[in-house]
Amino acid sequence: MIKLHDLHFKPFISEKEIDATIQRMVDEVAAQLKDEIPVFVGVLNGSFMFVSDFVKKYPKPCEVTFIKLASYEGVKSTEDIERLIGLTQDLTGRTVVILEDIIDSGNTLAEIHRIFENENVKELLIATLFHKPEAYKKDFKLHYIGIDIPNKFIVGYGLDYDGLGRDLPEVYQLKTTQHMTNFVLFGPPGAGKGTQANFLKETYNLVHISTGDVFRSNIKNKSALGMLAKSFMDKGELVPDQVTIDMLNAEVEKNAGANGFIFDGFPRTNAQAKALDQLMDEKDSQIDAMIALEVDDEVLVQRLLGRGKTSGRPDDADERIIRNRITEYYKKTAVLKEYYMAQDKYCGVDGVGNISEITERLIKVIDKL
Ligand code: AMP
Repeated sequence: MIKLHDLHFKPFISEKEIDATIQRMVDEVAAQLKDEIPVFVGVLNGSFMFVSDFVKKYPKPCEVTFIKLASYEGVKSTEDIERLIGLTQDLTGRTVVILEDIIDSGNTLAEIHRIFENENVKELLIATLFHKPEAYKKDFKLHYIGIDIPNKFIVGYGLDYDGLGRDLPEVYQLKTTQHMTNFVLFGPPGAGKGTQANFLKETYNLVHISTGDVFRSNIKNKSALGMLAKSFMDKGELVPDQVTIDMLNAEVEKNAGANGFIFDGFPRTNAQAKALDQLMDEKDSQIDAMIALEVDDEVLVQRLLGRGKTSGRPDDADERIIRNRITEYYKKTAVLKEYYMAQDKYCGVDGVGNISEITERLIKVIDKL
C-alpha cells in the first residue's frame, strides 16, 4: 500500500506482468511490420517508461520521437483545450506507431488523429499499454492493447496523481474505501488475547471479533451453527475451516463502517489466513500486523484451569481438553507465525506479567506500526 498526497493506493499490476505484456506487444508489432522501419511516437508525459521499455525490446531498427499534450485556454474562459505539440518531423509515407501508456475516454486519441490528418503517413497504428473499455467512448481502432483494466484511477509506471507516482516501476490502483487498521491478536489458548483485546479496542476504536466468543454466543442461542461448533469445541478441536470462515466474513460485514478490526482467535489455520487476506483485499484493505502474545505452555495450563473455576467454559474445566487445545495450536495454528513473518508482519510480545504491563507492551508495538 502507498500514499500519494491525500490518497491511498494498493498494488495492482506487477513489474513482471508489465514486462511480459510489453514483450507480447513488441512481438505483435514486429511480426506485422516485418522489415519496415517504423516511427514510434510516444505521448508525453505518461508514456516515457513504456516507450523506453518497448523500444529496448524492439528487435529491429526503428525511430523514436515524442509529442506532448499542452493545455490552452479555450474560446470560453472556463474551458481548457488540450492540443498535442512537438510533431516537427516529416512523416510522409512512414508507418507510425503511437505508443500510449493508457487510453481511457479516447479524447487524446481524437487529438492524435486530428494532428495526423494532413501528415500523409502510410499507416497510423495505435498501441496502448493499458485500456479502460468501460470508459472508451470513441470508434478509433486500437491496433495493439496491452492490458484491459477496470475504470478505476491508477498510478505508477509513468502515470501520476497530481505529479507523484510516475517513477514507480509497478502500477497501483486507488483504494475506494477509507483506510482501516487491522491486526490479528495471536497466541495459544490462555495467552490473554481476549483480555488484551478489550483494552485495545477502546484505545484504538476498533471492532473486536473473537471467533470463540461468536461460537459461544451461538451455542447459548442454540443455533444450528452453535450446535455444530459445540461438538468440536467440547473436545478442544478446531471447528472446520469453511464454517469458521463463513461466520467470520458475516461478522466483518455486520461492521461495514468500522475503523478496523482486532481479530482474536482467527485465523487459526493456513486456509483461514488466506481467506482473511482475500476478505481484506475485497475491502481494499489489509492485515497490518500479527501481534503475538508469547507464553510458556505450563503457564497457559495453570491460567486456563484457574479461569475454568469461574468462566463456566467446559473446555477450561478439564486439563485433558486444555492440553488438546494447546496441541491443536502447535499442530495447526503455530505455522501462521511463518505466514505473517514472510510478509514482515509478525510482532512478538512477552505475554507473562500483570495485565496492564502487557497492555503497555502491546500499545508500544502497535503505535510503531
Ligand atoms: P477460543 O475462545 O479462541 O479459545 O476458542 C474456543 C474454541 O472455539 C476453540 O477451541 C475452537 O474449538 C473454536 N474456535 C475458535 N476460533 C476458531 C477458529 N478460528 N477456527 C476453528 N475453531 C475455532
